[in-house]
Amino acid sequence: MIITDITAKIFSQEFLKPLVVALGAIKSSDTVIVKIETDAGIVGYGEGSSAPFISGESADIILSAVGILKTGLIGEDPLDIAGIHATMDRLLVRNGAAKAAIDLAVYDIIGKHESLPLYKLLGGADGFVETDITIMVDSPERMAEEALKCVADGFKQLKIKAGVSCEDDIQAIRQIRSAVGPGVGLKVDANQGWTAEQALKVIESIKDCAVGAIEQPVPWWDFEGLSYISSHSDIDIMADESCFNRHDAARIVKEKAADMINIKLMKCGGLFRAIQINEIAESHGLRCMVGCMAETRIGIAAAAAVAKATSNVVYADLDGFLYFTEDKKNTGGFTFEAPFIKLSANPGHGVEVDF
Ligand code: MG
Repeated sequence: MIITDITAKIFSQEFLKPLVVALGAIKSSDTVIVKIETDAGIVGYGEGSSAPFISGESADIILSAVGILKTGLIGEDPLDIAGIHATMDRLLVRNGAAKAAIDLAVYDIIGKHESLPLYKLLGGADGFVETDITIMVDSPERMAEEALKCVADGFKQLKIKAGVSCEDDIQAIRQIRSAVGPGVGLKVDANQGWTAEQALKVIESIKDCAVGAIEQPVPWWDFEGLSYISSHSDIDIMADESCFNRHDAARIVKEKAADMINIKLMKCGGLFRAIQINEIAESHGLRCMVGCMAETRIGIAAAAAVAKATSNVVYADLDGFLYFTEDKKNTGGFTFEAPFIKLSANPGHGVEVDF
């Protein structure tokens, strides 16, 4: 089997309400849907979700990058996923979302060829994945109200966005814990918003709140700050924006910069690299979460499948699809009943795409 054509289109999605995090308020998100055709008649779909303020990849950039990757991929065997990635890395450094779009479409083809859903292809036993839900930055009172609403909706894990003001962050975390009680899992994501000193001050002030992990306390480039916080914190520190690829994961291990890694398909270039990052983490005693940018059902179904592939992925943060107006282009892939994503048993990622 060989790849005969690769086409890509930008697909714009509006959020139901702006997503407010330490990096700003986000109103909409563009994703690039990629279609890969083969001489066997098997067609695969992938996507590259834009997040230029995190990854440097806008939808236009992803579209251009896919065009560059296409030049080397026509004629290649989609069953040779390692070869596909070697070709992509030879043609273009970084550009994780563009590579993820290709990787997801190729895995969709492999799943269809093997008649297996992605979660089985990757080694997962069943298709049930529990996701958390995100509490966006707002006043501490409104965040506590929102947390209660999410728990009433069935969620058992909450991710609290922080990093705008230390005092408000501390208040929000304390008020949320007292509102939801002890049985709900809490994580905090500062999205690079603190200094190392501020992070340790917040950690000291919330030590009785049973927070499971603090995500990306300091700017992505501040590995020294991450290491300092990790060595002084009783709460696990999770690298997100500091860990895009395998080399970042290796650096995090070497510099003891974090206890956990948030793996996102859109940062690392898709499922093939996500599994490798998890291997690096697991073999050094770091646990992982699988997170998302603002993907459609394609990216969420694929990320949920990789979350099932190993017991070292202890959290799934795959709530992105809940914030959009209804996605009329893509259907299937999974059903959702909070807090569980139930993956489709159809081959590949199982998403039907109106391309
Ligand atoms: Mg994060």
